Amino acid sequence: MSAGPLKDSFGRSMDYLRLSITDRCNLRCVYCMPEGQSGPSSQLELPQIERVLRVMGSLGVKKVKITGGEPLVHPDIAQIVHLAKNVPQIQNVTLTTNGLLLDRLAEDLIKAGLDAVNISLDTLDPSRFQYLTRRDHLPEALAGLDRALGSGSLAVKVNCVPTATSPFEDLLALARLAKDRPLHVRFIELMPIGLGLGQTRLDPEKLMALLTEAYGPLTPVDRQLGNGPAAYYSAEGFMGKIGFISAVKSCFCERCNRIRVTPDGYLKTCLHMDRGLKLPLDDEANNDAALAEMIQKAVWNKPASHLFHKQDEGRGENRLMSRIGG
Ligand code: SAM
Ligand code: SF4
Repeated sequence: MSAGPLKDSFGRSMDYLRLSITDRCNLRCVYCMPEGQSGPSSQLELPQIERVLRVMGSLGVKKVKITGGEPLVHPDIAQIVHLAKNVPQIQNVTLTTNGLLLDRLAEDLIKAGLDAVNISLDTLDPSRFQYLTRRDHLPEALAGLDRALGSGSLAVKVNCVPTATSPFEDLLALARLAKDRPLHVRFIELMPIGLGLGQTRLDPEKLMALLTEAYGPLTPVDRQLGNGPAAYYSAEGFMGKIGFISAVKSCFCERCNRIRVTPDGYLKTCLHMDRGLKLPLDDEANNDAALAEMIQKAVWNKPASHLFHKQDEGRGENRLMSRIGG
């Protein structure tokens, strides 16, 4: 079957799928997931995932980011990576994880063909980690980071979501990981979605000034690194780069190339808007060609941009980020 490519009515092409395979998680980050699970949890099963990947590949998707919830709590995670890597059109399969289970699973994930891993880490301070994630698991997260780096075969990025209350020393210590280790550190601007609405974001310009004061001038990097909209900078003496993903401050929707599938099988055409389609993944009456056509129609109607600045008017997403996958 060859149905692609996947285009929207604004001329943008979608070749990047963020596949959120479960909304369960072993942390409870304060800006992402409440302590108590509200409503039943959802998880995509292997046959559903296989179908999504096959049809998305036929529609021109080349890159897949597996996310959650925490993707490593899905019992079939290595098989899911393997499935994705075996779709002929899909060239790049990566994961975003809190890293807690990475020490245990890295070997299987690498064998399955995983290309890269993004590890979400907001602090290196144990008590602050406990406050931010409501769990006392910093050692496991750091072991996961070490294992990923030690593997030698995974590209590693660290993602941090700073807030207005993040101690500056935490952010400097995280940035410093890119000085001593072969990884990039990216600062993701807090988005007003789900529990993020109850937190105050840190202005990326303020953070940039802080980093410059501590580590000297940050020089913009011209070439594109990775799949995403991050703006990268190099600092003198750093092995890796520092990246900023500032979706609120600098909207990059006009370059958007991504679509999402949530753990309940909903094709989400915009991170912030409830626009898309519940995919009939278990419905035998809809063959792959019919499913591909439905996806094409939904993507054609992808919104032009997020409405973060109109969130106060109730325009935007009501799902938790732990259900969307970031
Ligand atoms: N559990 C995995 C992890 O933490 O990487 C994957 C799922 S998590 C939802 C994906 C990313 O979304 C993480 O980097 C997390 O920090 C980020 N995130 C969660 N809530 C956010 C918010 N309100 N604004 C910006 N990023 C957020
Ligand atoms: Fe879990 Fe990731 Fe959300 Fe933290 S950011 S609660 S680790 S899904």
